[in-house]
Amino acid sequence: MTDLYKIMYELTTVFESSTTANELILGLKNVFKIFFNCEEVSIYTKNSLTNTLKDFSKPWENLPINNKINLKFEELKNSNKNYIKNENEIYFPLYKQRKQEGLIKLEGKINEDKIKDTIPLLSRQISLAVINLEYFEGVKNNANFYKTIRNITKITETQYDLSYILPIMGEMIDGFISEHLIYIFLKKNGKKEYKLIWPAKCMINNIETYLSEMKDIRYISKDDGKVCIFPLTNSGKPTGAIVAYNPIETLNKAEIEYLEQLTMQASITVNKAKEYMKVLENATLDALTGLNNRHMFHQRLFETVSNSKRQKTDLCCIMTDIDFFKSVNDTYGHAVGDLVLKTVAKTIKKELREYDIPSRYGGEEFAILLPNTPLEEAAKVAERLRKKIEKKKISLEDYSFDKKEISVTISIGVAKYDEKTMKNPEDLYKNADKGLYSAKESGRNKVVTVKM
Ligand code: GH3
Ligand code: MG
Ligand code: MG
Repeated sequence: MTDLYKIMYELTTVFESSTTANELILGLKNVFKIFFNCEEVSIYTKNSLTNTLKDFSKPWENLPINNKINLKFEELKNSNKNYIKNENEIYFPLYKQRKQEGLIKLEGKINEDKIKDTIPLLSRQISLAVINLEYFEGVKNNANFYKTIRNITKITETQYDLSYILPIMGEMIDGFISEHLIYIFLKKNGKKEYKLIWPAKCMINNIETYLSEMKDIRYISKDDGKVCIFPLTNSGKPTGAIVAYNPIETLNKAEIEYLEQLTMQASITVNKAKEYMKVLENATLDALTGLNNRHMFHQRLFETVSNSKRQKTDLCCIMTDIDFFKSVNDTYGHAVGDLVLKTVAKTIKKELREYDIPSRYGGEEFAILLPNTPLEEAAKVAERLRKKIEKKKISLEDYSFDKKEISVTISIGVAKYDEKTMKNPEDLYKNADKGLYSAKESGRNKVVTVKM
């Protein structure tokens, strides 16, 4: 076998197995070390927006115009050589559609005689590999983009609480535009100023001034493009903003287009949630589970306490909270989290008598009022619920996970209303909540009955 054949064979293996810039560079380094005694390999590609080179393994960093690499690029372009040599370095070009669009740098005590004749071939082969990787990266990004849009749409189908929706949205966009910090602002009710909703802190000086310059749906670019403001709008008027910030780097054209589309989707989501919230102020049922909402729970609490006092009957309260629910969201996404909530709610409802009163107290907490029920009986109901939930298999057939079903557990606190010690009806659920707290503290997936 000739050396050339061997080199090309090794390189093909590298090209086939590399899925990232770093893998490609490392693979080239190994091959060139063996054949040419080369110590270091760097690849530079042209940033089509700034027309300067960037390190292929760090695409978010542009090299300064008068950087040595940019100068070598020009030197090579203006000569008609296949490569240039400079002390311990060898430079040769990368091509895209026959145009010189990048540069490869080899470093070390390289055997020039041996590499010389292979360079034109290496040049073209590596060019193809780089184009392939860039294309692959683009496809991956597109897939992520549509996933993000789909997730944002999905959240609003069942959720209306902006303080819950916005952080999820922020995290999703942040994950997608990973080289930039993402902020979400909303206009304060009836006021001109904007309030930072996500995350907790914003590092941009002058952000208030910048935000006040929003007029319509068009994005605003500030600080030489390092701050980019995408207005959230309602009927064309700004109601908030998604802001992308990177202290060194500007957003690229594709990212700007993505963010424009994501912001449009986010506007719809936020506007829908606001409308929904207005409707829900008068509502009694929780939209996701169909159980009483928290507002209704308090109303029913007052009614049942006064009935129990009047009729001298026992009244108990169960407070329950799903264990490690956050990790369900984190592992399987919020859509599965919502499915779990619905399933737990359904199971609770099914297990209760007709005149028991289940409510979704908040997030993944449920409160149940049990009229005409002594404490021992309530504790039995709680234990039955705990077991039912523990056994319940929640199918993930509709989702593309390896795992086909999951289950969760709940912790429960039980308390009884006591007219003598409880001055306020609210003390009933607060007592049950204490039981829930100690159930969590002592290991979860258990029932703690609060004795009086
Ligand atoms: P613990 O066992 O201590 O209760 O742990 P946990 O992870 O269940 O508790 P934590 O309070 O840290 O997390 C509750 C999570 O519930 C955080 C929040 O994002 C999520 N959550 C609240 N409301 C909803 C909802 O409507 N849908 C979904 N999918 N998640 C929700
Ligand atoms: Mg929980
Ligand atoms: Mg909780």
